[in-house]
Amino acid sequence: MSMSIDDCLNNNRQYARKASLHTAAYPGPKPIRPAQRLAVVACMDARLDVEDMLGLQTGDAHVIRNAGGVVTDDVLRCLVISHHLLDTNQVILIHHTRCGMLAFTDDLLRAGLEGHQPSAQLLGQATGRTFVSPGAGSSSPAAFHAFRGQIEPVDAPRDARNMERLGWDVRRGMSAILSHPWIPTSGPDAVAVRGFVYDVDTGLLEEVSYPGPIS
Ligand SMILES: [Zn+2]
Repeated sequence: MSMSIDDCLNNNRQYARKASLHTAAYPGPKPIRPAQRLAVVACMDARLDVEDMLGLQTGDAHVIRNAGGVVTDDVLRCLVISHHLLDTNQVILIHHTRCGMLAFTDDLLRAGLEGHQPSAQLLGQATGRTFVSPGAGSSSPAAFHAFRGQIEPVDAPRDARNMERLGWDVRRGMSAILSHPWIPTSGPDAVAVRGFVYDVDTGLLEEVSYPGPIS
């Protein structure tokens, strides 16, 4: 019997109270299929330790990470492989407070990279790092997937507005997964999907409600 997402949430509450649940040592050979039939999509933020925060062990889950924990084409690719070839049937989607994706827009970053000096300056001021513009265009990546809405300072603490923006992107990601024709959501082969915001100041996951598909 594999762990449920509720078991992971129970582990998370212990993690937030400083319990250490993840064993870091090499566990010996394991099967290729994730033991908990779980796939986690999360932001690459250095403050998130996915296995630790969910109490997972080596071999338990696929962990798919990128900037923002955004459900991109590549994440969908990974989830289709994870489910159909490697038998996972639960997906946990994790965004988090103080995410860098709240602090820029795709247009601003692209303009800065392409050589627009005011944008480069703004990015430099925002990050506290000298932004060195390559001054060249590129078609790849096609998008950075910065979160929608009014941008805010880098690493700003949580408030109602940024929680709303985070929740919105979690719902968009859940919608992209749940509406994908190759990810079954009903019947005996169904995949369960739940979305969360992780608070980097408390260590706790907070569930995002899912009212229905978002275009
Ligand atoms: Zn992030």
